[in-house]
Amino acid sequence: MALRSALESARDALSGTLILPGDDTFDRARRPWNLAIDQHPAAVAAPADLRDLRTLLEAARDAGATLAVQPTGHGADGDLADAVIVRMAAFDEMSVDLGSGVVRVGSGVRWGAVVEALEGTGWVAPAGTSPAVAVAGYTLGGGHSWFSRTAGLGSDNLRAAWVLRSDGTHERVDDESDPDLMWALRGAGGIVGIVTDLEIDLVPAPTLWGTELTFDAADAGSVMRAVRDISAAAPASLNLFVNSMRMPDSPQLPDEIRGRSFLTVQALSTVGAADELIERVRRAGTVHREVSGATSPKTVAASSGEPTEPTPGRGVSAALSSLDDATIDDLFRFRELPEQWPIMGIDIRMLGGALDEPRRAGFATLQNVDWLLHALVPVFPGVPSEPGEASMAGFRGVLDHAIAPHTVPTFLGPGETLERCGDPAALDRLRSMRTAADPESLIHAGRLPR
Ligand SMILES: Cc1cc2nc3c(=O)[nH]c(=O)nc-3n(C[C@H](O)[C@H](O)[C@H](O)COP(=O)(O)OP(=O)(O)OC[C@H]3O[C@@H](n4cnc5c(N)ncnc54)[C@H](O)[C@@H]3O)c2cc1C
Repeated sequence: MALRSALESARDALSGTLILPGDDTFDRARRPWNLAIDQHPAAVAAPADLRDLRTLLEAARDAGATLAVQPTGHGADGDLADAVIVRMAAFDEMSVDLGSGVVRVGSGVRWGAVVEALEGTGWVAPAGTSPAVAVAGYTLGGGHSWFSRTAGLGSDNLRAAWVLRSDGTHERVDDESDPDLMWALRGAGGIVGIVTDLEIDLVPAPTLWGTELTFDAADAGSVMRAVRDISAAAPASLNLFVNSMRMPDSPQLPDEIRGRSFLTVQALSTVGAADELIERVRRAGTVHREVSGATSPKTVAASSGEPTEPTPGRGVSAALSSLDDATIDDLFRFRELPEQWPIMGIDIRMLGGALDEPRRAGFATLQNVDWLLHALVPVFPGVPSEPGEASMAGFRGVLDHAIAPHTVPTFLGPGETLERCGDPAALDRLRSMRTAADPESLIHAGRLPR
């Protein structure tokens, strides 16, 4: 059947919505979180329930289309010809079981809701920095968390999932019932079926402690060396993020920050203060501002300053297997060049700890990778894109010699594939699982091109 008429018939059968090109709300509905990505799907569906999802599978089969599940579209990458975007917002149930240290969420639930529910409980979620990201999209793509040194990747914490396969069967799977499928769901999940619910381990944090130290950019090299030097001794309960921020020279900003650069070190310990190690970082430069003390899941989530509404953005990431003095110097020298103004922030995350000993098997891994970097290049309306593209290429160029063989899928940029995340044997394993699970190619290929 022709695509349009198959989709129109499906629309009549749905309890939820299906928006087609030409409908008043189509342009709004097709927009992902990252407004810099202009995606043109065949339709946008918001299924109300499992029955609707099965109807959409049938329509995709009739029409030769694919279903591209995109809960919030933080990771959208644009190529959706003949695909129906499936928004999972109606799958919004959540139940927290502190006795077993687990949360069960529907695949439309965002991390912010889980974080809110954990306030004051002594538990934290293996969430990333944006409360607006869907638990499903993040966890199925690996997910590097504030607490990954303590608890591993988000996907390492995936205990079980309810999966709708392209043949319409829906069941709960875990490592006992289907270890192969669980391995794929932990990082490459979207390619083998549609996940409706997930069970995720929570992270015990009996005494959540945070320290934030802000230094002038002139101290960036020495502070980064100190952070690097404590990494070998840091316990897995200590999580450490560094952020190098360069404020635009914009008259809207207060004089004390306008056009200036800062380096912020953020440490989070799940078992109380880590004074001795933090002191070594503190001594490496002049601290302009310090905040230290007991903290909470909500305070941590708010501290990232991530946008709460869809915004246009670009970025480039690099997973590094080492960070020597020369690389640190090159990175900050590059970063301070006037022509690198498009790079507003660079996030540097200390890895190791539980990431080196994943407690469950999964496609996504940051085992034996030491640092995860991400450069944020905002997109401003009317500003040409070329300087930003050049800065992103320059950033990768400076780090190229230290790039690790693999990274985590949630840090891939538009157009990048899972080939950056696993070796050929792992990719072959994924491809054969997909062929077996979805022989008619009803699920969008996502980041593993067919
Ligand atoms: C501001 C911001 C901050 C971020 N911070 C972090 C961070 O700290 N750590 C980190 O690791 N990542 C981070 N990310 C990246 C983010 O985790 C990924 O982009 C993630 O994929 C986003 O989830 P989503 O639900 O929006 O994904 P979408 O882009 O909507 O979906 C991503 C893919 O997941 C799959 N998928 C999602 N849900 C399902 C489902 N129910 N069934 C089957 N497949 C599914 C699909 O294949 C889909 O293509 C951040 C992104 C942004 C924009």
